[in-house]
Amino acid sequence: MTHPIDLDTWLADNETALRTLRRDLHAHPELRFEERRTADIVAGYLTSLGYTVERGMAGTGVVASLPGKDPSRGIVLRADMDALPIQEANTFAHASCHHGVMHACGHDGHTTMLLGAAHALRQLPQLPGSVHFVFQPGEEGGAGAQKMIDDGLFERFPTQAVFGMHNWPTLPAGEFGLRSGPIMAAGVRFRITIRGKGAHAAQPHLGLDPIPLACSMVLQFQTLAARHKDPVSAAVVSVCMVHAGDTDNVIPDTAELRGTIRTLCSTVLGQLQNDMCRIGDGLAAAYGASIESEFFQYYPATVNTREETALCERVMRETFGDAATHADVPPNMTSEDFGFMLEAKPGAYVLIGNAPRGETGAGLHHPAYDFNDGIIGDGIRYWVALAQAYYQSK
Ligand SMILES: [Zn+2]
Ligand SMILES: [Zn+2]
Repeated sequence: MTHPIDLDTWLADNETALRTLRRDLHAHPELRFEERRTADIVAGYLTSLGYTVERGMAGTGVVASLPGKDPSRGIVLRADMDALPIQEANTFAHASCHHGVMHACGHDGHTTMLLGAAHALRQLPQLPGSVHFVFQPGEEGGAGAQKMIDDGLFERFPTQAVFGMHNWPTLPAGEFGLRSGPIMAAGVRFRITIRGKGAHAAQPHLGLDPIPLACSMVLQFQTLAARHKDPVSAAVVSVCMVHAGDTDNVIPDTAELRGTIRTLCSTVLGQLQNDMCRIGDGLAAAYGASIESEFFQYYPATVNTREETALCERVMRETFGDAATHADVPPNMTSEDFGFMLEAKPGAYVLIGNAPRGETGAGLHHPAYDFNDGIIGDGIRYWVALAQAYYQSK
């Protein structure tokens, strides 16, 4: 090992290279489980630092481990690598060169910050336990975190705690947010197929029109969140896709509704799912139609554990100050597959402000979104301080 670095000097020396790396990743986004170029860049960067790199978990996942004095002890710091099927609206030089694919959730920035942390921590004094840098694929709807766990992540890399971080466009750059307990929601996706009977548009009495039934269902489903659960527990029921018919003079045979239910608690999620089935079946019976309701488990709630959250909060306060630390942010109804890691291990998922000073940046999943390069240094500082603090606290 070379002589330990001073982190501020190291960040000043590496800022330009990290910004260039982030913009290169932004310009070359890849969809879930297709992150081959990204994984090559991540693995190449880590290998050039002297890390042994484990590839292939969940397909395109990359893991590198910084060995601690006791190899049975370890923590995971996790970043996600995938982009979204969105056509980028930005026209700057690093805009996506892949049509219809875009880093609209800032995973390019997450990857860059974790690579920077892997770089910096390697040049700092050895820690009592190991730090596993996990670059996972398929966060956007692919449950890549669960696939990495299924592929033996925690058996190959002994882990006592897991930590994640997401950029947050409504929080100013330089500030952080977190909370103990659920920070993001559990979700289930649904598809309801309504079977009626097609007919000529002018002879509805000869068929069974599925469209009025579909419309009734959409309206009745809105009572689920409002009338069927404790108002204090959060829930969202969104019908996001309604499809029926192909032309304007034919009553179709079928109609299809698709959407999602999000809650902060899995009991409420199960209850709403049952209520949705009951309402759907009852309405279908009333109209004389038949329906098929399918539910696809999405992500569990992202639930931060108390002790690890308190540690992250302390790191934020000590590194960035009390004014920059928002210790009790409200939970968000978005979902995150880091929830799977937090089901398996204690840990905390935190938010890092992404809004440029004095501005509100475009939101996550928006075609004009961009990760703020000005926060790369803060993200690295947080990861480095967290790894050091974790082992000081144990
Ligand atoms: Zn996203
Ligand atoms: Zn994301």
